[in-house]
Amino acid sequence: MKPYREMSREELKAEEEKLRKEYRKYQAMELHLDMSRGKPCKEQLDLSMGMMDVLDSNADLCCEDGTDCRNYGVLSGIHEAKVLIGDMMENNPDNIIIYGNSSLNVMYDTVSRAYTHGIMGNTPWCRLDKIKFLCPVPGYDRHFGITEYFGIEMIPVPMSPTGPDMDMVENLVSEDPSIKGIWCVPKYANPTGYSYSDETVRRFARLKPAAPDFRIFWDNAYGIHHLYDDRQDYLIEILAECKRAGNPDMVYKFASTSKITFPGSGIAALATSPNNMEDILAQMKVQTIGHDKVNQLRHVRFFKDIHGMTEHMRKQADIIRPKFEAVEQILDENLTGLDIGTWTKPLGGYFISFDSLPGCAKSIVAHAKKAGVVMTGAGATWPYHKDPNDSNIRIAPTYPPMEDLIKAAQLFSLCVKLVSVEKLLG
Ligand code: PLP
Repeated sequence: MKPYREMSREELKAEEEKLRKEYRKYQAMELHLDMSRGKPCKEQLDLSMGMMDVLDSNADLCCEDGTDCRNYGVLSGIHEAKVLIGDMMENNPDNIIIYGNSSLNVMYDTVSRAYTHGIMGNTPWCRLDKIKFLCPVPGYDRHFGITEYFGIEMIPVPMSPTGPDMDMVENLVSEDPSIKGIWCVPKYANPTGYSYSDETVRRFARLKPAAPDFRIFWDNAYGIHHLYDDRQDYLIEILAECKRAGNPDMVYKFASTSKITFPGSGIAALATSPNNMEDILAQMKVQTIGHDKVNQLRHVRFFKDIHGMTEHMRKQADIIRPKFEAVEQILDENLTGLDIGTWTKPLGGYFISFDSLPGCAKSIVAHAKKAGVVMTGAGATWPYHKDPNDSNIRIAPTYPPMEDLIKAAQLFSLCVKLVSVEKLLG
């Protein structure tokens, strides 16, 4: 098939007619499918059911130092959980605070604390006229939701396969003291699946921010979420690199076991410098007497060590890799050569990012919905839900059963073609 742009009006009209017929067939099927949710599927969750067995009413719930995990205390988390999560995050256990069940919650708290009380003695952000964050786009909608909630102005920064546009980041951060942070998903990013290159990480660590309380919000949500054994992305460790570059306090690194065990019932953690830890713990001790140590212990007993976790992630990959490959194959078969869209082929994470012709994304998502397939709302990957090109759509292949996913991806491809033809016909 030749590119749509090279087709005559008559050819396009004939193609439109054919696509409409096909679309009506899908409508008649009365589908109810969902490709919007970046959630593990049932089979993935089943892999962690052993966590329910490691602690029963006969279990000894004391951790290695004798602390009874059933009781109050241990503000920053039990040591063995810090070792496990430290290995997962590639950080020293001494640099880790273990939290509750959600890293998004930790990120919210981190912004909130800076807003009300300031970072390490700096003026609280709420007392300043203007606060801004850099937001690599397309990005994670819930990050943008936090900064929007606090009235922080968000500045989009374009992403490329090597990470955010670092010339732009360096210039803005060094010139404008009202820029206090940047949202980063450095590995298998949501939604592109891109991982930052060595040069990008090195340039991040060497930023010279105008604001002394500028922080990199390094959300390593997909740090060990590889799809393949033989092809994996590796990242320079950011805390160590910041320390080497003389910027030890510039980064907060977040992670959780949400997409390793049970989302919403996992454990979340923050890795950062001793100065930042002191600052954070001074507030945390007011906020809580301690997080859920029983759950921390459960995770440690289940995985034993990082090797157990790595093995577990292999099993996860075996379940979701065929789903990513099925979607990629369907997009390839239906769209390659038509010049109406591009999509990413990630080696890990939870998403594929699709870019349509400008001005088509909303209509594609609406067409899919009318035929029974829910996609993430177009625009969700941009601050304020405003994609200026109206072209980016996030595809989440993990949750639906394979059969549904195939139908949904086929219908999606059809919608891309139909909307593109309509657009070209004007
Ligand atoms: N960070 C990123 C980049 C995500 O994609 C997600 C979930 O989709 C989260 C954080 C949420 O993590 P948690 O469940 O630990 O709050």
